[in-house]
Amino acid sequence: MPHDYKILIDGKLTKPVRGGTMDVINPADNTVVATVPRCTAEDVDLAVQAATRAKAAWKNTYIGARAELLMKLAQIVRDHADELVPLETAQYGGPISKTRNFDIKFVPGEFEFIAGLGRAMTGHTISADPDARVMTVREPLGVVGLISPWNFPLVTAVSKLAPALIMGNTAVLKPASCAPLTVLKLAEYVVEAGFPDGVVNIVTGPGSEVGEAIVTHAGIDKINFTGDSSVGKRILSLAAPRVMPVAAELGGKNAMVVLDDANIDAAVEGATHAAFFNSGQNCGSPSRFYVQEGIYDEFVSRFVRAASKIIVGDPMNPDTMMGPLAYMKCRETAEHYIASAKKAGCRALLGGDPPTDPYLANGAFVLPTIFEVYDNSIEFMQEEIFAPVVGVYKVKTVDEAIDLVNDCRYGLCASVWTRDYRLGMLTLDQFKVGTAWINQHLAIVPETPWGGQKESGWTKENSILVLDEYCYQKHIWIHMSETPHTFWEDRIKLD
Ligand code: NDP
Repeated sequence: MPHDYKILIDGKLTKPVRGGTMDVINPADNTVVATVPRCTAEDVDLAVQAATRAKAAWKNTYIGARAELLMKLAQIVRDHADELVPLETAQYGGPISKTRNFDIKFVPGEFEFIAGLGRAMTGHTISADPDARVMTVREPLGVVGLISPWNFPLVTAVSKLAPALIMGNTAVLKPASCAPLTVLKLAEYVVEAGFPDGVVNIVTGPGSEVGEAIVTHAGIDKINFTGDSSVGKRILSLAAPRVMPVAAELGGKNAMVVLDDANIDAAVEGATHAAFFNSGQNCGSPSRFYVQEGIYDEFVSRFVRAASKIIVGDPMNPDTMMGPLAYMKCRETAEHYIASAKKAGCRALLGGDPPTDPYLANGAFVLPTIFEVYDNSIEFMQEEIFAPVVGVYKVKTVDEAIDLVNDCRYGLCASVWTRDYRLGMLTLDQFKVGTAWINQHLAIVPETPWGGQKESGWTKENSILVLDEYCYQKHIWIHMSETPHTFWEDRIKLD
């Protein structure tokens, strides 16, 4: 009996007003995993109304009580891990070893981390005037619209929902349409945990319709969006007439610089993991490698050898290291960029052709692909591919590498691999990115901030900084003397 997925509005698991449905497709074999609700703007309106009704009481709920509900949710997710892991894998193709050891493991920890972080939150006191007590207090924004992507479906949704809730906001959450199943399971756990009606609302449906209905609804006080930069620009333009704040975590075209003195074993292992983990569908994955000429030949041949050993296959198989991309359109996008690299004269060092194995050929599979590139300005080196497809480029100097890293409209993250930490630090200082590593790439944990520069957006997720995305900081001045404080008091004497 297939599971009956429902949306969550005003504390009730329910169906869309118009009863619409949509299929979720397994990208490994194109079978239907489940049929889920397909909402319309009417459901969004009901969700926003419910969130609006709930916001005053939730804002005034003791933060310890809000934290306790998050902790309950963490435990429920943990208790249901065995159910969530295969669902996550089936809907977007992440290998089961990864969804078990990373995605679903991460989620309870995120709820717990944010619950504790919220309770430890402080404001500022400011020594502005001896006759006054001046401070900042944090206030919830109100109703927040949370729009999440598919590349870590539950992780990315929870990374928004948890801080929104602890800061006293109510929420309308929309997951990506190709991978909404674990978020819809979360809707059930929200009810089980006992959240007050209307605090959490979860709707599903196409971004162009349901997403835009959230963004343009007058009852929404802020949007927190993660996704493609072009969609982010569209959301920003829709939000502009109301001057509504938008937190935007957007695309990346991340770079890894390997200098002559790098520890080559570590660099090869780091490159292989960072580029091909989750089939390269990580906002932080490096897809541009700038390698200094002295180490170039050895690094590249070992990188190619390591990548060729990645086991690609059925994501449900525990031995599989790389599954399919999230859906067939992603494979077509990757194939477009592979063709464009070939057209630009790049040499395929690994991959570059569709898989011949009948199982892989039928699904959204793209094999690990490495091109040698001679021109940084080509589309292949400038556009986000979001697939296991990368370019290596030989550089003479670290300054040349820095210029090439920054010669891109994105600015999410970059790394430099060197044993010279001083040179490494000076290099990081010049990268125009939100996260920069030395001898590391893709280390993203709840304690560290994540977010970009330039067209990668500016928002911070994770760490204590995430709390600032979900509150206003109101300045409060309490004047304690009988005489008002004025700047002209010495010049204007009242009778
Ligand atoms: P999309 O931008 O296609 O979709 C993200 C979400 O936005 C989905 O829920 C989608 O709904 C929704 N959406 C689409 N169009 C609109 C619209 N017009 N108005 C409102 N919402 C809309 O991204 P992907 O899901 O394909 O995710 C991959 C992208 O996310 C990559 O570019 C990646 O770099 C980026 N990303 C960035 C991260 C960062 O930290 N900077 C982290 C993770 C991913 P629907 O699914 O129905 O289309």
